[in-house]
Amino acid sequence: MTTTTNEVAAAAALGTDLVPGRQCGSCILCCKLLGIKEINKPEYQWCKHCKPGVGCTIYDTRPKACRTFYCGYRQSTDISDAWFPARSRMVLLAQGIGIVCYVDTGYPDAWKVQPYYGDLKTWARRAVNTEHHVIVNIGGRVITILPDSDVDLGFMQAGEKIVVGTADTPMGPVYRAHKVQKGKD
Ligand code: SF4
Ligand code: SF4
Repeated sequence: MTTTTNEVAAAAALGTDLVPGRQCGSCILCCKLLGIKEINKPEYQWCKHCKPGVGCTIYDTRPKACRTFYCGYRQSTDISDAWFPARSRMVLLAQGIGIVCYVDTGYPDAWKVQPYYGDLKTWARRAVNTEHHVIVNIGGRVITILPDSDVDLGFMQAGEKIVVGTADTPMGPVYRAHKVQKGKD
């Protein structure tokens, strides 16, 4: 896809600003990494309507979730050009939990490479005094990025949520992350 006047107008109507000059181009990574409820498409599986080299084969009738979706790279100037998903192999999203970095399972260490890792740490430092977190998702395996560490929480079960706090140690306070059942923290 490329950015068209109609696409920009649609984004404006949705209250979504697009970064000028950024296009989807050859990228179709969200059609693999993200789930689409309307068509029962699970996360981390190619959409049955996505054809390599062609893109969406039902483009004119694609679900609303697809028609209204733009990843973080398309929306935020805080995200550098290096994050172009077709190159970085990662799709960034702002979700209720905070920033979620969906990593292509074919490139599970992509997030550890610079400048990506440094950006994740910067966002984690900004997030610590908020209710939001920075999460790396690799095929459902969740890693919480904290200012001073990365906590591999494994696979989340239904009803679980992530809690981030600090603990006092002889070395001073450190950040901790763990999973709890919702309503039990
Ligand atoms: S991941 Fe982002 S850049 Fe790639 S196709 Fe989806 S919206 Fe476009
Ligand atoms: S319906 Fe089209 S745009 Fe939506 S995920 Fe499938 S291939 Fe991508």
